[in-house]
Formats: sequence, structure tokens, C-alpha cells
Amino acid sequence: MEFMETKIHVLPEELCNKIAAGEVVERPSSVVKELLENSLDAGASDILIELEAGGKRLIRISDNGCGMSQQDAFLSFERHATSKIRTADDLFALSTLGFRGEALASIASVSRLRLKTSDNDEGLGQQIYIEGGKIKNVAEVGFPQGTSIEVRNLFFNLPARKKFLRKENTELGHVADVVTKQALANPAVSFRLKHNERIMLDLRREKGVRERVAALLGRSLLPDLLVVEQQGSDDLQLTGLISQPQLTRSAASHIYTFINGRYIRDRVVQHAVMAGYRHLLMKGRYPVVVLFLKIDPAQVDINVHPTKHEVRFREQSLVHDFIAEGLQQTLRPAEWLNKGGSDFSTENAGDYSTHSQSQTVDQTGSAPDNGFVRELSDRYVPPVENRQKDNFPVDPMLAQLNSTSVYSEPVEENSVATQYTLPGSESSGFFSGLHILGQYHQSYILCQDGSDLVLIDQHAAHERVGFEKLRHAYTAGTIPSQTLLFPEVLELDFNSATALGDNRQELELLGFEIEPFGGKSFALKAIPQLLENRNASRLVVDVALELERIGRTGQLRESIDEILILMACHSVIRANQALAIVEIKALFQELDRIDFKANCPHGRPVMQRMTLTEIERLFRRQ
Ligand code: ADP
Ligand code: MG
Repeated sequence: MEFMETKIHVLPEELCNKIAAGEVVERPSSVVKELLENSLDAGASDILIELEAGGKRLIRISDNGCGMSQQDAFLSFERHATSKIRTADDLFALSTLGFRGEALASIASVSRLRLKTSDNDEGLGQQIYIEGGKIKNVAEVGFPQGTSIEVRNLFFNLPARKKFLRKENTELGHVADVVTKQALANPAVSFRLKHNERIMLDLRREKGVRERVAALLGRSLLPDLLVVEQQGSDDLQLTGLISQPQLTRSAASHIYTFINGRYIRDRVVQHAVMAGYRHLLMKGRYPVVVLFLKIDPAQVDINVHPTKHEVRFREQSLVHDFIAEGLQQTLRPAEWLNKGGSDFSTENAGDYSTHSQSQTVDQTGSAPDNGFVRELSDRYVPPVENRQKDNFPVDPMLAQLNSTSVYSEPVEENSVATQYTLPGSESSGFFSGLHILGQYHQSYILCQDGSDLVLIDQHAAHERVGFEKLRHAYTAGTIPSQTLLFPEVLELDFNSATALGDNRQELELLGFEIEPFGGKSFALKAIPQLLENRNASRLVVDVALELERIGRTGQLRESIDEILILMACHSVIRANQALAIVEIKALFQELDRIDFKANCPHGRPVMQRMTLTEIERLFRRQ
């Protein structure tokens, strides 16, 4: 037979490893993730992570785990070599973080790697040095039980990929993320993170997750966290800490979810968390959540993604509802307290039959099955705001304003707005010319424009005005700031602290004066005048998150609007606040003064209009 050259050939092992590395090793943080998983699987209780140049020059992870024998040490670099599973069935009974047996082979193929390990306490160990996947040197060394893996010059042999690595601090930030997640899941293990010889994180062994959360996310969060403990059928269990609705973030990055001890970022789980907070958070706000789901390993497939961030559940909706209900249960008592008033009135109304009550409800039109109205009233959340009113000293300024309000009676949920006619207003612009009818649900201003009904979202309107003022001041130079009598100390997580530290000068232009206060803490010394002390520290936490996000993609100056939006949002009157007629008029005058695009800066509409015809159609008159 004549020799024919084939077009297809089997790739050499080395190339296979490089290809596999493409999936598993994207940047220094992915190396850290894999090595940490190995250390944890080896039962370590002490882990040291050392980096140079954000991990681009050096990553060294040392643990006091079980270590490896000489033979195992060699085998560990073979592709698909693992001590963690033997059969396919094991895939559905996983108790370890690793199981693919790919990480070490992949990492070794794209770096200069040195392994030192010992599985005995006689101080006898092995050292293996590998360059670009080739074993260069093997030696016996003195080494205590445990393992140390040193990864130098990541991607030295893959220049194309090396180009994708970002600046030192960005890479360090990603590593800190990875360490944070593992540290939250393993409070009994001590973690230390060193960068260029500086200690960045020093986490002692803790008994529970609470102290770990304090060390990583800031101790000041603790009073606002609730404990979740929910036992379901079939080994389902949910535990952890979640924030009360008044503690929120501007990004979902403080939602940490773990399944069987593994950090995952799953769509179903994320949705379930938000469903647990349904009606409790404003749009665009996210809770702080550290949640651990335990589930029968047979009910979940971890092996759907090489980095194992996503999972697949056998019974997706069951898991979803279990999580959502667990959170609702935890959050409910607080909600009930806040609704105390209305609950009492129902109880006291003993003379009325359920029937007559529901009739009353219908007559006042309080439960219209009308998407439009419901959507509007869903947008803001009474419980939180009510709580603030009940439990906290009321700002004297606001109290005064409220007492002069023509709507000083608290407007019952779902009740029809009080009628109020403003006699002949001196109109100049569109808004000033509107005929004010009243305030609905302490959130919307009702007006008449010709024969149209105009609804104005008071929060969105204030936000819009605040944003325009801030942008104007920023363009003109700086935003006026006011010094705080008592500086406030803020504790942040690693990445937020870095972002804030890096942008202190820019923040001064925005009216903030912030000084480092040791570790991940800052002293807030001055804030933009516009804020009037309200929520200043919460705003700074949000600004830091936003800076973090911007830092990963672009320049602060180009994204300044995002920050101004946040500031506007924090500075203004929320929904659920009675407004005096003078306040409404003042707001309208300001709205007339700005370049009005009918949207709040978040892109939500400020105003909605219903024509007489639409209303008549609702009542089937048309
Ligand atoms: P996997 O973790 O999926 O098994 P890896 O390539 O990450 O695959 O590791 C291969 C094997 O090397 C592991 O199964 C484990 O037996 C061993 N190993 C790796 N790191 C350590 C460590 N830090 N301590 C002890 N054994 C380790
Ligand atoms: Mg592994």
C-alpha cells in the first residue's frame, strides 16, 4: 500500500496541556484559585499566599496539608491525574473541590514551577522543578509536612496570552477576590496574603463565618446582618448571613453564594437571592449576602464548566424556591414589625366580616389589578422607610417640613390620594404650570395637565435635579464640600479599599475628603455639601464599588457621570415621604430649570401621563 500522509494527527501531550491551560489558567488569580483548592482538599489549616507584581512575576502558595509522597509528586503533573475520584459515579458524590486532575499539568505547562512537598513529619521532602511543562530538576529536600508550589513568570512561553494581563493592582484585585471567596467558605483555615513582601490580608482561624465576614467585609456590617438557618427535605440546608434591607450595595459583588463549600456564581441561585428580597430593595440595589447551600451531591452537577463556577441542578425550581423562601423567612419578621400598624387595624376590626372588609377594599380601589398602577407602587418599598421613621430619630428639618405638609396625615398604603387644589399658580415652565392634585403613596405627585393625568415620581425627579446640580458644579471646578464635625471611620473590603485609595484626589474634586486610617479603613473627613450628612458613609461605600468597577474597564473621568448619579441618588428625598406643597412647587421650579429629558439619571422615567381616554377605558366608559 502506498504511504499517504494523513491530514489529521494526534497532538503531543505538551501542546494538549497548553490548550487545557487556556481554559483553566486565564490570569494569576486562576492559578491561585486552583492552588488554594488543592491546599484545602489536602486538609490544610494554614495557607500562605505570596505574590510579586500582582502574581505576574511570582505566585507561591504554601500549606500545612497532607503533602505528597515522591511518586504522587510526579504523578500530580500528569494530565488527568487525580487522587480525588476513581469512577464516573464519584463525579456525583464529590466531597473535594478538585477532581479533573488538570490544574497542575496546565499551570506547569505555562510557567516555571517549583513544587516542594512532604507527606511525613520527619522533615523529608521532594522538590520538582518544571519549565514550560518539562521536568528540569528533581531533588530530595528537607521540608516539613505540607506543600509549597511556586509559579514564576506565568505565560513566559505564551506571549500572546501574557499581553492580556493587566496592571499589577488589577491582577492583585482578582487574586484578593479569589482569596476572599475561599476564606469566607473556610473560616477555620487561616489565610495570609502577601504582595511584594507586604501583608495584605491576615486572617486568623475563626470558629464561625461571622468573624470571617467582619475581617473581610468590615466589622461595621455585623449589626445589619441576619442569620439564615433553614433545613429542607432531602439534605437541603441553607445557612449564612444576609443583610437587612436597609444595608444595600450598588453592585451584586457582595453576594457570595456557596454550594457544598464551593463558591459558585449561578444564575438560578442569584435569582433566588433577589427573589428573597423581592419588594424590599430599590431597583439597582443589592444586598450583602454570604450563603451556604448544602445539597446532596447527586442533585447537582459541578462538572459543567472548567472553572466550576456554574452548576446544574437536577431540580432547579426546588432549589430556587428553597433559597428564596429561606431568605423571605429570615427577612419576614422585620417586615411584619414595620407593617404593624395595618396589621393591628385588621385585627381590631373584629366586627367586620372578612366579606365586608374585602368589599371596603374594593370600593376604595385599593387593589386594582392594573399593571400600570401596580408597577408604580411596586417600585419603592414601604417597610424599610417606615422602619427608619419609627426607630430612628427623625431629622428635625424633615419633621418640620412634614408638619407643615398639607398631607401631614400619613397616607395609607393603597388609599386614594388626598384631593388638593392649588389656587392659581404663577406658572413659568411646564412643571410650574401643572395643576397639583395631591400626593399618592407618599411617592408620586399627581397633577392635571389639560385633561391628562400626570404622575411624577418624586424620587426620580429629585434625583434628576440633584444630578444636574452636581454635574454643573463639577464642570465648573469642584463640588462644594463640608467638613464633618466628627470624622467617620469606614471599613471596606480589600478591593474597595484599593479603589478608594487610588482615587483620593479625584474624590476631592467631588467634595470628599478621605484619609487612610490603617488597613482597609478610611476616615471620612468632608463630604459634598449637598449630602447634608445623610448616608454619607454608605455613599462612599457605593462610590468605592463603582470606582472598582470603573478601574477595571476605563478612566474615572470618562465615567464621572456614574459617580454623580450615585451621589444624586443618595442626596435626595426618597419615596415614602410626605411633601409640603411648597416643596412640590420648589421641585417643579427646579425641574423647569434643567434640560429636561423626562428621565431620572438612572434612565427611569420621571413622569407618566394618562389621557382621559385611557382612564375612561379603565372604567369601561369608552
Ligand atoms: P485535582 O485537584 O483535580 O485532583 P490537580 O492537578 O489540581 O488536580 O492536582 C493533582 C493531584 O495532586 C491532586 O489530586 C492531589 O492528589 C495532588 N495535590 C495537588 N496539590 C496538592 C497539595 N497542595 N497538597 C497535597 N496534594 C496535592
Ligand atoms: Mg486541583
